[in-house]
Amino acid sequence: IEELKDHISTYAVRIIEERGIKTLFPPQVEAVKAGLFTRKNMVIAIPTASGKTLLAELAMVREIIEGGKCLYVVPLRALAMEKYEEFRKWEKIGAKVGMSIGDYESRDEWLSENDIVVTTSEKADSLMRNRAGWLKDVTCLVVDEVHLLDSAKRGATLEILMAKMRKVCNPRIIALSATIPNADEIAAWLDAVCVKSDWRPVPLFEGIFFNGRLEFYADGVLTEQRKIGKDIMALVLDCLEQGGQVLVFDSTRRNAESTALKLAQRVFRYIDSNEDIAKAVLEENEGEMSQRLADCIRMGTAFHHAGLLNSQRTAVEKAFREGRVKVVVATPTLAAGVNLPARRVIIKSYHRFGGYASEPIKTIEYKQMVGRAGRPGLDERGEAVVIVRSNRSREEVLNRYIFGEVERITSKLGAENHLRFHTLALSSDFRSIDALENFFESTFFFHQNEISARYELERILLQLERWEMLEFGENSISVTELGDMVSRLYIDPLTGFMFYSELSKRDEFTEIAALHLICRTPDMENLYIKKSDDWVEEEAIAFMDELTYAPSPYSADYDWFLAEVKTAMCLHEWINESDEDEICEKYGIAPGDLMRVVETAEWLAYALSKIAAFINHAQKSFFSGLVKRIKYGVKEELLDLVEIKGIGRARARKLYTAGIRNRRELVENRQKAAVVIGKRVAEKAIAQIENDLKRGG
Ligand code: ADP
Repeated sequence: IEELKDHISTYAVRIIEERGIKTLFPPQVEAVKAGLFTRKNMVIAIPTASGKTLLAELAMVREIIEGGKCLYVVPLRALAMEKYEEFRKWEKIGAKVGMSIGDYESRDEWLSENDIVVTTSEKADSLMRNRAGWLKDVTCLVVDEVHLLDSAKRGATLEILMAKMRKVCNPRIIALSATIPNADEIAAWLDAVCVKSDWRPVPLFEGIFFNGRLEFYADGVLTEQRKIGKDIMALVLDCLEQGGQVLVFDSTRRNAESTALKLAQRVFRYIDSNEDIAKAVLEENEGEMSQRLADCIRMGTAFHHAGLLNSQRTAVEKAFREGRVKVVVATPTLAAGVNLPARRVIIKSYHRFGGYASEPIKTIEYKQMVGRAGRPGLDERGEAVVIVRSNRSREEVLNRYIFGEVERITSKLGAENHLRFHTLALSSDFRSIDALENFFESTFFFHQNEISARYELERILLQLERWEMLEFGENSISVTELGDMVSRLYIDPLTGFMFYSELSKRDEFTEIAALHLICRTPDMENLYIKKSDDWVEEEAIAFMDELTYAPSPYSADYDWFLAEVKTAMCLHEWINESDEDEICEKYGIAPGDLMRVVETAEWLAYALSKIAAFINHAQKSFFSGLVKRIKYGVKEELLDLVEIKGIGRARARKLYTAGIRNRRELVENRQKAAVVIGKRVAEKAIAQIENDLKRGG
């Protein structure tokens, strides 16, 4: 580390040493030798926990010393927050560190002063669309988890972001990746040098648990085996006994929960009281799932899946890192996001429900899960064990996962929805068909496919013209006002078109009709229809003719339609103040699901309200009210109260029922308010209102 001082200053070296880092890991040395401190673009493909972040930090510090500006792009908001906190230590050398993860329409101009900005790929892409001026000052772009170019959902945006940044400001690029077979191909696309390594700070032992026997393999041969008892309980206790912690991956939420509960019965002996953590996860919600989570935590286990509220997830992760929860059982979807190392990782099921049927997970997902095994500095080795139940699946696991190679990364930009989403945005930058095509030729999609994307592109351009978002001249393209708005709102052009055409067709929308329109769009993620959901269809009869669209029960779309209707009904109950736990129970969802549906619907309602205002729709104020009603989950009459910080939907309703209907009445009825919602909350709220008034709010 000492030797780095010529590149990043003695003081910066001290800051690294303060973290207990004395020498570079071998792949880090390789990266330095390959040109980390030069202007070369780099693809660094090394395993989890082998120190990619430190490499990025070294490159960024060097960049800042030379007067540059860095953009650090991560896949998820939670990761952005984690990295932001981590990078703030560089404030000690005078670096300004910022984060941009807020709503898609803002430009965050205040970030122009920052030396490092941490953001997500979606937010960075939307900053480009909204022409945030400071982006062109970026001299170094770090892309974390670049293998996500392969992700069906977000890969295309990441790809466009990288290609566009190269066109606009041509920054140096550092792309960090998990180990993948075609890292070289990404490097060739980026004109980058490629550093590859399989080295890990904690050696990883991969194995199988079959018929009570634990077997570990290395380089294709069996190296260790022993009998340890018959089931997963034995496998877990075996590790806890030696002072380790265990991360279990299970196939579904329900299985994850029941495994965590089952394991708790013996794990409780390994912990002290966890009552405070249990209390913390019940703070925001006391529904059934939260109770089960608290029960597990009290006994030293926890489950971790997308149904948890954010605060609950953070609490579980923290408790696990602190060693107070010994076992976490997670679903595979979360394997990519959370950084939760444990001595032993157990894969209880390597199948996942993939839309229609249960299918084996990809090898890259397997590698990502087992990559969590072994805590650096704490465990001598990491162990990853797949539980199998037959000789056949034993062979499958050995060949496909343990000895198998990770899949190649392929571009996902070719999918129609992604292509139209990005083509619309790009049209305003490249104003001619030639320039647009030329840009597409610089994408990874083109790099991989060789054949020109011309035909696809042409089809998409014509479609956008039909939707009145683009207009063509001889060789020029111009974006219409509608097109520009849709692009900035960051919605799929198809969503924009649906809103625009339905609003143009009719003057009157009921609540359920507006909500259903939102749920019809490709940007909405609807709830599933389950076998026991016949009631949806029955209840829907009452409002079917209010909707903008209803297929015949014999049509192929009918199940989709029911899912849209179910989600719209759920939102309808939410904005009409049904109790959260009752909603969750009726719709068979967890609190985290409700929050996700609400967040997405709020964003889409906002877009709907903007388009309604654009065409001067008769109900435009109804639509803008709807945005807030979705955000807070209240009827119209509570909007004034619910926007006060600390007054949620429940308190606002209590005040209203007691005759306090708005801010003014709240200030005028201090004592009454104190009785209704408690003295402390009431005083805080009133202070806030008075403060706002003083500032002319
Ligand atoms: P990755 O991003 O590759 O998954 P991280 O960068 O998060 O891995 O590194 C994992 C851990 O290893 C971190 O706690 C980090 O501080 C530590 N680390 C990184 N480089 C070194 C090093 N050279 N010596 C000791 N610890 C290191």
